[in-house]
Amino acid sequence: MPANAKQTSRRDFLARFRAVSTTHSDQTGDVIRPPWARHLDARCTGCGDCAPACPEGIIAFDGRNHPVIDFTKGECTFCGACSRACAEDVFDTTADTPWNLDITVAKTCFAENGIYCRSCGDVCPESAIRIAPQLGGRARVIVNEDACTGCGACLSACPADAISITPQKEHAHG
Ligand code: SF4
Ligand code: SF4
Ligand code: SF4
Repeated sequence: MPANAKQTSRRDFLARFRAVSTTHSDQTGDVIRPPWARHLDARCTGCGDCAPACPEGIIAFDGRNHPVIDFTKGECTFCGACSRACAEDVFDTTADTPWNLDITVAKTCFAENGIYCRSCGDVCPESAIRIAPQLGGRARVIVNEDACTGCGACLSACPADAISITPQKEHAHG
């Protein structure tokens, strides 16, 4: 599939998730679980099958051998391969959202310190990042939360390691 067609279909696919919030999620604390994971604590056996199924190689494991997402390795394309590889009733792909994540940009951001950089905006498949020029040669990185899917592509692209992605506080339970 051509890259732009892939992006369009992904955007269409995810669009229906953005307007509504999830009622329960496995996204807790600072750990990001695979998209659509809902019942890890109770039902994950730690078999490890989801990690090799991920074509992006972004699934690692915590101390209980439960899967965690590592955006330093790449982005989630929401392909669903992890959920299909899981033999247990861990994932709920009928849920109203794959996950609810927050993105923050630290003060170490090059653009915000007057150094030319557009890396995060350039890689964002949803064009959710705007880098707005400010007085004095600095810029401000603005993330459009309605457009952002939490795919994580911007995190590894940032040369200043300024981007953090964490579970949204109001959903960080369960
Ligand atoms: S949805 Fe696909 S890309 Fe995302 S974590 Fe699962 S297998 Fe990896
Ligand atoms: S495939 Fe399912 S049961 Fe196995 S480690 Fe991954 S989430 Fe847990
Ligand atoms: S996580 Fe980053 S790259 Fe992905 S949609 Fe959101 S702003 Fe764009």
